[in-house]
Amino acid sequence: MTATERFFKYIAYHTTSAEEESQSPSTARQLQLTRALAEEMEAMGLRDVHVDACGNALGTLPATPGVSGAPVLAFLAHVDTAPGTSGENVQARIVRYEGGELPLGHGAVLSPARFPALEGLVGQELIVTDGSTLLGADDKAGVAEIMTMAQRLLEEGTPHGELRLIFTTDEEVGRGTEGLDVKVLGCDYGYTVDGGELGTYDWENFNAASARVSIRGVSIHPGSAKGVMVNAAALAAQFQDLLPKDQVPERTAGYEGFIHLCSIRGDVSSAELDYILRDHDRALLEEKKAVLQSAAERLNAIYGPGAVQVETQDTYYNMREKLEPHRHLLQRIEAAFAAEGIQARAQAIRGGTDGAQLSWAGLPCPNLSTGGYNFHGVYEFIPVRSLELMVSVLCRLAAGFAAPFDPGQAAV
Ligand SMILES: [Zn+2]
Repeated sequence: MTATERFFKYIAYHTTSAEEESQSPSTARQLQLTRALAEEMEAMGLRDVHVDACGNALGTLPATPGVSGAPVLAFLAHVDTAPGTSGENVQARIVRYEGGELPLGHGAVLSPARFPALEGLVGQELIVTDGSTLLGADDKAGVAEIMTMAQRLLEEGTPHGELRLIFTTDEEVGRGTEGLDVKVLGCDYGYTVDGGELGTYDWENFNAASARVSIRGVSIHPGSAKGVMVNAAALAAQFQDLLPKDQVPERTAGYEGFIHLCSIRGDVSSAELDYILRDHDRALLEEKKAVLQSAAERLNAIYGPGAVQVETQDTYYNMREKLEPHRHLLQRIEAAFAAEGIQARAQAIRGGTDGAQLSWAGLPCPNLSTGGYNFHGVYEFIPVRSLELMVSVLCRLAAGFAAPFDPGQAAV
């Protein structure tokens, strides 16, 4: 079965996860796919195949006889799709892209004016939606590519070390690594296959913190408020006004971090502001926390100590720090892409990744492209060629660990 055939099979499963649910997996429907994946792994002859308590499907492809001492690798992809757009009854089709505007249906049009990457894909077969749902390339393309890699390695008898296939639930609601104990997995390195355009890979992501600003006011009848009232709601607006205007998501890109006001609520007696802080540089993240503290101090100097209080909490960290000592993981990615004639490009994720959680838990884990575009919406699509090429890239990457590695291979 090709990766494309598998992909069509997997996107037929409705696997949208849910933010508001606390059970694991957040939606029982995800289990239908992970159970099917477990059956598929069993049929392929993988060992230790099981679905864990969080609904993750795991299986082990033992090392090829004769290969010993190779590191144990994990390949991970997630089965859930993002809650923001429907992932139910996905009606995907393959179209040859001839250039220009491509009507999807339901009034949605893929246009190069809006999505310039299309210009480089003229003449290619694209898997697109009917405009009413997302596609699910994020991350069922990753699932299909990993599964097809395992099948091909088996069929072709390519020597490789021990490989663990891990298909997780609830990545889109920030719980993708739930149930995964790095010590129990016993892998030396991992690769998530959850990125975008073919040839891209990620080994840097944001350092992240959240901040809650609590403001205490003094409420009194407005008729006799002079010199007494402290209006917490007005103070909240003042606080926000003290922050740098250019360090916000809508004005930053690349390696620029931000202080993002997520919500503001309040009245005269109390107010609260919730922020998220992001920066690839840990020191600059700390600076952003200091900016909030000094804004609070300025207002407290006027309205009294304790009027404004800032509490911050770290959420996740940049995996770069944990991958830096394992540069060969990145060189191997570049070599695998180069061998397929693809120039690899490192990107810095403006967000988090399950690989960051795993890297910090002790399993160094960069992220690879799936080949897909425009995730989380009706414009999501993936070229057939990218889907199939990623299988070859993954096979080369996996097989590469069974032989001595020469970083010079990375040169295109
Ligand atoms: Zn994803």
